[in-house]
Amino acid sequence: MSKRAEEQRAKVFGVFSRNLEFVKRNLHQFEAEIRIEPDVPNSYVCPLCFGLFEKKALFQTDPNPLTVEHVPPQKLGGTPLVLTCKNCNSTAGHLLDAPLLSIMEVEDFKNFLPNSMARVTFSKDGREMNGTISIDDSAKWVIELSSKISNPKHAEYFLNKMKRPRYEVMSYEDLMNYKPGSDSVKLNFRMTVEKEHLLRRAEVALLRIAYLLAFGTFGHGFLIHPGLYAIREQFKKPEEEILRKVFWLRYDFPDNYLGINIIRAPKQMLGFLVVFKLKTKSQSRNFGIVLPGPSEPGLKVYDFLNDRLCQGDGTNFCRIEVQSIPRINFLTEEKHALILHDFWERYALLE
Ligand SMILES: [Zn+2]
Repeated sequence: MSKRAEEQRAKVFGVFSRNLEFVKRNLHQFEAEIRIEPDVPNSYVCPLCFGLFEKKALFQTDPNPLTVEHVPPQKLGGTPLVLTCKNCNSTAGHLLDAPLLSIMEVEDFKNFLPNSMARVTFSKDGREMNGTISIDDSAKWVIELSSKISNPKHAEYFLNKMKRPRYEVMSYEDLMNYKPGSDSVKLNFRMTVEKEHLLRRAEVALLRIAYLLAFGTFGHGFLIHPGLYAIREQFKKPEEEILRKVFWLRYDFPDNYLGINIIRAPKQMLGFLVVFKLKTKSQSRNFGIVLPGPSEPGLKVYDFLNDRLCQGDGTNFCRIEVQSIPRINFLTEEKHALILHDFWERYALLE
C-alpha cells in the first residue's frame, strides 16, 4: 500500500473527525434532541452505512477498512473527496458506477464523438460476431472483431470472409459500405442494448455522486436530515423504486452552477441542486441532481420533479429559481458545523 494513499486517508480522516466533534458540540441548536451514538471521540461516520469508524480502520488490514472515495468516480474525472468503508465503496463500484460509465460512453459513441468506443455485434449471412467499433482522436473508425467473445464457428466464418480481425475506415459511410478483401461484403452491426435496470443503476449512481458531494462539502452536519434515509436505501437497492424514477434535471447547467445550490422556487421544489462535471474520454458534461432539503417538502420534491419538470427536453428548468451556496471550505471551522441548516433557512424558507 503506497505511502501517499496512506497519508491521504489520514488527512481526510483528520478533517472529518474534527468536523464530527464540531457537529456534536453544536447539536443543542436543534429543537429536537439529536444524539450521535455511540459517542466515540476521534471517529468517522461512513456517510453511506452510518457505521462508526475509529482511526484503526485506516489500516487496510482491518476487516472493513476506510477507503478514499473519488467523487465523482475516478474514471469520470473525479478527485479524492471523502472516506467510505470498503463494503460501501466496492459494492457501488460495480453496481452503480460501472453502468454509469458504460452508458456515458455509449452516448459518446452514438454522437460519433472522437475517442469513443462501443461494443457491438456484427452480423453477416445469419452469423454473428462480437467486437468493438472505436472512433479515434483523428475521427478514424476502427473495427475490431474479437474471436474470444464470439461463437467460434461464426467467428471462423467471419474471419474467412473478412481476412483480418482489424480494419480502419475513414467515416461512418465508409463503414456501412465496407468492402473487405476482394468480395463485396455488406457488414451490419448493432450495439449492445442498454438494459432498463442498468439505466436505473446509472441514475442512482448520479444520485450517489450528488449525495457524497454534499457530504464532502458540508461534513457530518449534512447527515442530520430525515429525508436522506430513503436516499441511502436507494443506493443499497438501486433497482427498487424507493424514490420515483427521475431525480435528474436534464439541462446542461453552465459552470457557474457547479457545486451546491438551493432551489427556492417553485415552493414544491425546495431542495438542493447539486451540479457536477462528469468527464469521459470524449467530452465533459454538467449534471444537475436534486437532493431533498432538511424540511418540507422533503422527498415529495421527487414527485413534483417526476410529474412536472423532467418531462420533455429539460427546458422547463427555466422556471425554477436557484441560489448558489458560496464555495468555501465549510469543514475546518466549528462555526460552520451546521451551516447547511442556516443556508436552508436563509435561502429556502425566508421570502
Ligand atoms: Zn459504509
